[in-house]
Amino acid sequence: MTTIEFVVPSVLNKGAGEKKMSIDASTLDEAFNIVSGIMGDDFKRRVIDINGKPRALINIYINGKNMRFNNAGMGSVLKEGDSIYILPAVAGGAEITNQDMLRYSRQIMLEEIGYVGMEKLKDTKICVVGAGGIGNPVLAQLVGMGIGEIRIVDRDVIEISNLHRQHLYTDADIGKVKVEAALERLQKMNPGVKIEAIPISVTKFTAEKIIKGYDIVIDALDSIDARYALNDACLRLGIPFIYAGALGMVGSVCTILPNHSACLRCIFPELSEDEMPTCSTEGVHPSILYLVSGIQVSEAVKIAIGQQPSLVNKLLYVDLNDLVFDKIQMNRHDECPSCGLHVEQKDIKIPSIMVEELCGRDRGKRTYTVTPAQITNEVDLSNILKIAESNGYILKSKGNLGITVSFQNQLLISFLTSGAATIVGAKSEEEALSIYNTFTEELKPLS
Ligand SMILES: [Zn+2]
Repeated sequence: MTTIEFVVPSVLNKGAGEKKMSIDASTLDEAFNIVSGIMGDDFKRRVIDINGKPRALINIYINGKNMRFNNAGMGSVLKEGDSIYILPAVAGGAEITNQDMLRYSRQIMLEEIGYVGMEKLKDTKICVVGAGGIGNPVLAQLVGMGIGEIRIVDRDVIEISNLHRQHLYTDADIGKVKVEAALERLQKMNPGVKIEAIPISVTKFTAEKIIKGYDIVIDALDSIDARYALNDACLRLGIPFIYAGALGMVGSVCTILPNHSACLRCIFPELSEDEMPTCSTEGVHPSILYLVSGIQVSEAVKIAIGQQPSLVNKLLYVDLNDLVFDKIQMNRHDECPSCGLHVEQKDIKIPSIMVEELCGRDRGKRTYTVTPAQITNEVDLSNILKIAESNGYILKSKGNLGITVSFQNQLLISFLTSGAATIVGAKSEEEALSIYNTFTEELKPLS
């Protein structure tokens, strides 16, 4: 009989503290079999691979000496009083705490993620552009999984027609700025994730600033112009970009590795905003949003932990009608205006302000967005409210990142701290801009 001490650290004991056991075993292999029997299948799966060998990220020490230096390996003969200690390798970067081991145990035990993968997820920064139908399930999954940092970008305000598919929001959130309500909800879901909310429109002038410094960008937008802007900014900054679109019963997903694979413009060179059907005219089935968002998250996780994503140069097309999943081969094109051989590096002249009409919004009124090129997060909403009230507007809702006011049931204006605004009820771009200016002109002397 050889009695030895076997120590399981807290991280491998479901966070329940270090566990010391005195067992009888004559080889390392035998010791592991006995301890696996005591600790259960979960422990065994995380420490030993299917061939019965310790996993690559597991280090085993006999009397403080790593057994990888020992030729006998798992067959190493043990002596009376030997002490065995096992420790998962720490790859540097984010530290996995005992709480993390509990919270993320069911994904850490996946061979495809594991302990090292979890560290990488905690060390990853993802920018999710759009907090609507696709953005909601993308965000819920990423925050639940413990991605290190997440930035949410959207300019919209929550409407009752969003609630059937945008499940981060409740009735009480109607009228609130989406990014603010999403931030509140997601932070409660997982306080360990650093989340930032940016209430702004994505345009070719703002896209680069929005995504700079992030490891992965997820497209959860509903406008083709904004998608092109994001695609081009990701190409310039070399950030992997995961596209998804969904409408009615169909959706598509594609992963773009800048300057290595087909980009969005290689795939869809000439889509026009005016010809695109939208959710508000065509409707959308919530299930398709969960399908495409789930696939986007799976692609993002693969990229984050250093695996090859599955939809590079492939467009996945999903149709719920017959439940068809098609993967269509895509290729980069030399003629692509964004990533081809003749990309003109035009110095685009940045206008100080952009006005766009939002198409197909089913409100019976025309809707415009006004976006300043300079992103700030400092517009004082109480000043905006003062100006609004002195001009006869009525307050509809007020949050930390945005305010909504209305004027005689004709105009509904949401003003965001970024300086962007959505104006429902203006009759032309000029009118939208002049309404916007009545607020900001008066603001200028104050700032
Ligand atoms: Zn391209």
